[in-house]
Amino acid sequence: MDRPADDCFALPPGVHWTPVAEALDRLEAQVAPVVGSEEAFLEDCAGRIAVHPVIARRATPAASNSAVDGYAYRADSLVDGGSGTLARLEGSAAAGHPWHGCVGAGSALRVLTGAPMPDGADTVVLQEDVEIAGDVVRFLRSPRPGANVRAAGEDLVAGATAVEAGHRMRPQDLAQAASAGVSRVDVFRKLRVGVLSTGDELRPADSLCRSADVADANRPMLMALVESQGFEAVDLGIAADCAETVRRSLDHAAGTCDALVTSGGASGGDEDHLSRILDAEGRMYVWRIAVKPGRPLAMGSWRGVQVCGLPGNPVAAFVCFLIFARPVLLRLAGSEWVTPRRFAAPVAKALRKRRGRHEFLRARFLPDGKLERFHSEGSGLIGGLRWSDGLIELESDLSEVKAGSVVSFLPYSEFGISS
Ligand code: AMP
Ligand code: MG
Repeated sequence: MDRPADDCFALPPGVHWTPVAEALDRLEAQVAPVVGSEEAFLEDCAGRIAVHPVIARRATPAASNSAVDGYAYRADSLVDGGSGTLARLEGSAAAGHPWHGCVGAGSALRVLTGAPMPDGADTVVLQEDVEIAGDVVRFLRSPRPGANVRAAGEDLVAGATAVEAGHRMRPQDLAQAASAGVSRVDVFRKLRVGVLSTGDELRPADSLCRSADVADANRPMLMALVESQGFEAVDLGIAADCAETVRRSLDHAAGTCDALVTSGGASGGDEDHLSRILDAEGRMYVWRIAVKPGRPLAMGSWRGVQVCGLPGNPVAAFVCFLIFARPVLLRLAGSEWVTPRRFAAPVAKALRKRRGRHEFLRARFLPDGKLERFHSEGSGLIGGLRWSDGLIELESDLSEVKAGSVVSFLPYSEFGISS
């Protein structure tokens, strides 16, 4: 499709623009965990990454137990599985209170939910499905053999993996580990991530004087993004557009942090010192990526410390953090390489794009379940990030999408950003 000649997102010819998938593959090949481990109580493990597989010390449940309030009996006590009567045994079993005896043929024991199954019994009838007359249990309906019993180990058997190594633990993982008798887990130490803004025009939000001053919006945003992934964010302030200052900031970060996220100065302009210095004096794995928003993205390392050099425009910084920096940082922190899930959803209106570059569009759901894109592509419009629920992803070779067609959608919640 035709674009105006001043399309500021057009990829300049004569340079190799790395496709997104290739850039991600190269990054995956470059990074490995850089942090040591520590033992943590389960209560402190939310958001932490397991170093080893967490192995179940006992089965869950450890013993078979009743799933309902009712009567436990032997299924073969009832002829043909039809209705009948059983003799009610004296006593009962409840959660934490086993009954010490054996349920023989022709008898039934009162059991409450969670009660360990008494010896001899294999089935529980719901209390609603029987009538009690003195010590006789009369069946109104009989369940199938084995019904209403939770088998020992049906959730997890002893020795099985409760949580995989490299997994970032969620509340339900903690429940699984606890149920398997695990109270402490070896987790990776929290990754310390320095966050640095670069640009002569940038000032902290409380020090804006001249109209030429630009508020440093990226630093609070990127620090919050870093923390949302379970890392420790280290505020490295603002570096001026000066080679020596940028070099000093890189040195400082390499000495105090496990990884560095910068914004600005990642392009190929006169004042883009970050990319130039990284390329000349450090290491650069991926620089020019055929992506919008984003384009030049300086992914490399400085004195052995990974540097994610994001573009300065806040929208590009945000999107590139999610797509490129996040999997890199998670891997450095001990996680497996993560790939966000894409969800299929139809677009409300037709979309057109330039072939040859991968695009991420800010979008949100309309009440009818269709996706609406943000009205502007402006990479400085932070309002569009707030307005959107996530990103429509358009692959490089696509040039148009018809209204109603299904596209890939990456909700922000998929990246751990919740409201
Ligand atoms: P750069 O990537 O350094 O060329 O910057 C691109 C645009 O993003 C310029 O308009 C910068 O003023 C702006 N920018 C760079 N860093 C930040 C930041 N930390 N906060 C807000 N805007 C920024
Ligand atoms: Mg700049």
